[in-house]
Amino acid sequence: MEDEPLLNAGIGACLNLDGVVELDAGVMEGAELRAGGAAGLKDVRHPIDLAAEVMRDGRHVLLAGDGASRFAREHGVEMCDPAIFITDRKRQELQHGADTVGAVARDSDGRLAVAVSTGGINGKLPGRIGDSPVPGAGFYADDRFGAVCGTGKGEAFLRLALARLMVVELEHGMDAAAVARGAVAMLGKAMKAHGGVIVIAREGAPEAAFNTPAMPFAIAY
Ligand code: ASP
Repeated sequence: MEDEPLLNAGIGACLNLDGVVELDAGVMEGAELRAGGAAGLKDVRHPIDLAAEVMRDGRHVLLAGDGASRFAREHGVEMCDPAIFITDRKRQELQHGADTVGAVARDSDGRLAVAVSTGGINGKLPGRIGDSPVPGAGFYADDRFGAVCGTGKGEAFLRLALARLMVVELEHGMDAAAVARGAVAMLGKAMKAHGGVIVIAREGAPEAAFNTPAMPFAIAY
């Protein structure tokens, strides 16, 4: 999905105030709560690969900017010319922080994982980091309860620590659909923000909820 110019991740992502693409991504495995995030990337071809490498390396959870790029080079993660992320400057200027990409998954052994990748929000200040590379804000996975991923106003997800909150609600016995609906209601009421979430619990079907005009999603079994 980072290669699809229409989506706000990797190639075609939205632009910051300087007209530059700065990318964030995050990944988490629910078995041992291992997580990796990479933020403010300008020259990493697939931000999600770098987030996964940060997770595998295990020394840190979140790397940003130049240090993240250096770590990427040292770990054989594919780099690129920042210019390749811009395919249609006019369209990318108008992208309103929509179409971040994310996935939650449960395998046949009940292991849970989540991954998310984004260009953030249009016209953001250079250096702005959203919720998507931050575990507990834009994503979270815990095999005992569930995995969740968010999209929308990153500042609202960060302030609410929304992904972690959703997993705590699953822990307390709320079903996935109610957790998803509740999270979106809280985004709207407490933060006057728009967004959406996808949730998969230990059992049962995945659920999605959003208060945006649309949030395309697909389910594969
Ligand atoms: N949550 C992302 C951010 O604020 C944007 C999005 O989901 O569209 O960086």
